[in-house]
Amino acid sequence: MGILTGKKGLILGVANDKSIAWGVAQACKREGAEIGFNYLGDMMEKRVRPLAEEAGATFIEPLDVSDDAQMDAFFAKVEQHWGMLDFMVHSIAFANKDALRSRFSETTRADFQFALDVSAYSFIACAQRAARLMSPGGSMVTMSYLGAVRAVPNYNVMGVAKAALEASTRYLAQDLGRDGIRVNALSAGPIRTLAASAVGDFCKLMDKSARGSMLGRNVSQDEVGNATAFLLSDMASGISGEVHYVDAGFHVGAGDPGVE
Ligand code: NAD
Repeated sequence: MGILTGKKGLILGVANDKSIAWGVAQACKREGAEIGFNYLGDMMEKRVRPLAEEAGATFIEPLDVSDDAQMDAFFAKVEQHWGMLDFMVHSIAFANKDALRSRFSETTRADFQFALDVSAYSFIACAQRAARLMSPGGSMVTMSYLGAVRAVPNYNVMGVAKAALEASTRYLAQDLGRDGIRVNALSAGPIRTLAASAVGDFCKLMDKSARGSMLGRNVSQDEVGNATAFLLSDMASGISGEVHYVDAGFHVGAGDPGVE
């Protein structure tokens, strides 16, 4: 018996087998969950569908979180397919690459709005639709990063989006807690993924994070997946509104990715 046996949930944000969401999917599958996936556009479908099928998924549908019509259609299909939901994982972020390489003070209104919409508001938009399908015991997790609470070089507007995401996690936890639904964020250490490759000098960030961590290394996609499965499970029934770090202890040390 796994800790998610009998539970049905959505894992939003698999792009390829390097995605953090794929680490989460593997852990959830191993722990007995039935999983549904989204993909962003036809290009992504080619990569995501084989992975989703490998995870035994019966639900694989398109979803662009910046489009309300797609959001409504996606969650209507979830309702038709399962009629209910036990959990949802939001592992989605996007910012214009230029905004993650140039000076933060030069951030444009358009880049700010798009990054905040896709990377922070989308969690609220998904949560409000998922919550309607959940009963007490339901659980949601989103993915954050230390740049929410510290100024990390080049993380720029994404740090502002993650700050909004972490605040949204607390407000969602407060609001949905009255329905018995738990909402948490997981703050992962740096992992080489498609989204991460947009951040300027990401290799340097990984080196500094490994050197400054308690364990002297970076974390893996599987370690983030395992911790997410725990937060989604009834084993974490007393945890809500939390930002749970899975960063090999980097955030409690004196090391800083901005300091040589
Ligand atoms: P990834 O590129 O594998 O995943 C990002 C996902 O966001 C992709 O599946 C992409 O299709 C999706 N996405 C982007 N815009 C979308 C939209 N409009 N609609 C629907 N989906 C959209 O990269 P990842 O690193 O696995 O990122 C997953 C999450 O983890 C993100 O929130 C990221 O900020 C966070 N995170 C990543 C790291 C890291 O170092 N990789 C560290 C901490 C937190």
